[in-house]
This record gives sequence, structure tokens and C-alpha cells, in this order.
Amino acid sequence: MNTPPAFLRYALAVRVTFLGTGTSHGVPSIGCECATCRSTDPRDNRLRPSVFLQSDRAAVLVDAGPDLRQQALRHRISRVDAIVFTHGHADHILGIDDVRRFNAMMNGAMPCYGDASTLDDIRKTFGYVFDPAAPKGGALPMLELRPIGGPFAVGDLTLQPVPVFHGKKPILGFRAASFAYLTDCSALADEAWPLLEGLDVLVLDALRVRPHPTHFSLDQAVATAGKIGARRTLFTHMCHDLPHEATNARLPAGMQLAYDGLVLDDLPLS
Ligand SMILES: [Zn+2]
Ligand SMILES: [Zn+2]
Ligand SMILES: [Zn+2]
Repeated sequence: MNTPPAFLRYALAVRVTFLGTGTSHGVPSIGCECATCRSTDPRDNRLRPSVFLQSDRAAVLVDAGPDLRQQALRHRISRVDAIVFTHGHADHILGIDDVRRFNAMMNGAMPCYGDASTLDDIRKTFGYVFDPAAPKGGALPMLELRPIGGPFAVGDLTLQPVPVFHGKKPILGFRAASFAYLTDCSALADEAWPLLEGLDVLVLDALRVRPHPTHFSLDQAVATAGKIGARRTLFTHMCHDLPHEATNARLPAGMQLAYDGLVLDDLPLS
């Protein structure tokens, strides 16, 4: 097939890079000598959870965890148009200080999208940033907090919030075209199901084998993914109880663990 001219090519595809696929402790975990933490398989090394979405006219980070600096260096990320937050837990927001580099490169404030509770968590956790008395300058990240009230656009990407439950806490997953990212969840809200029809790729939380109060176990994640019925499902937010290769060997067809550095190219945008 001939490549269409550039003016027709914009917005035809979205590229997804998995920046981190680990739970809040990361894998290896500090001081742990288990087989996964000692594994030499690079897919068993998991930074804190985040994905990077790129289309022709948008570059969007989903969450900004404590490994953001390392992730941006590893993947040579030099442009971010917006950060979209799923919720305000530490493993999803503690990279906010590193937004200063993007502020400097882009010469402006970073649009940060989240629900009201997430933006509140960011204001509390980074109180000094929002203190009107704090001296302005290079020491403070410049953040433009934007509450999510429904689907919103960043460049040519339209992001559809998808309501899920992280234990009892309502948080957000996101859909962009035929890709959906649902991290940190233990149940889907009723309204989520129709928003997840016809997916090419679903990314879903699967913390470990044993049940957990605020995350899907692997069995629960497999069952939920089966009901959603995406063409392909990739699990994320794994702890060291799930070694990559051995776990993948027993997953149903069309379902695998994601891993840091995995890139999905050319997902259709419409
Ligand atoms: Zn371990
Ligand atoms: Zn969380
Ligand atoms: Zn988390």
C-alpha cells in the first residue's frame, strides 16, 4: 500500500509506549530476594505504572509517577502536551517535580487533567507549588490543573474518561480510539461497559494471584477482560508475584502481561 501524503496522514494512528508496568513498589522491590526480583529477564523489571500516547499532533502522558525522569530519559521523551491523571496515589503523581524540564523545553505550563479528587490530591501533595507566597521560578513545576467533566481533546487525540473503582474509590481509566487503559481497579462502574465496546487493545490492572481489596487479581482481571472482549488484552500494575514468562504461559489466547518498553504502533485512531 502506498503511504498517503503527509496532509492526509495526520491522526491516522496512535502509538502507545509502556513506560512502567509495575505496582507501587516497583519490581524488583527494595530488599527482596524472590525469583522475580532477582530475574535477569528485563521484562521482570517494572517501573511505576505509566503509558505514553503519541499521535501526529499529540503527546500525552498517562500519570506521572516517581520514575518519570528515568522513563523520559529511557524513551527520549522531549515533548509532552498534557498529563492525564487516573488518580492521586503516590505511584501516579510523584513525578510532578520532573514536569519542570518539560515546562522549560516547551516554555509554558503543563496542562494536567484529572477528576476533582485527583486535582485536590495534587494540590495537597504539592502544597508548596500552589502556595501564592512561594517565590516563582525554576524551582516550581508550572501546572495548569484542568478538571475532567467528560471527553476532552489533546491535539488530535480525544480522550474518553472511563469510570472504575479502585477499592471503594472512584477513579478514571481512559479510552483513546480503540485503545483503553484501566490501571488501579478492582471493579468497573456500570457506565464503563458501553464505553469499552469494540476495543483493539485493553490494558487492565492485574496486581497478583491472591485477591486484594483495591486491585484485580490475575483471575479477576482475566474474567473481566473476557467480558470486555478486546481483540488483545495486556495486563499492568503487576507485583513480584507474577514472573513475566511463567505467567504469560498460562494466560488465555489474546491476553498477556505488558512489560516496560513495550510499544504498540499504529493502533487505528478512529
Ligand atoms: Zn520480590
Ligand atoms: Zn492507586
Ligand atoms: Zn497504582
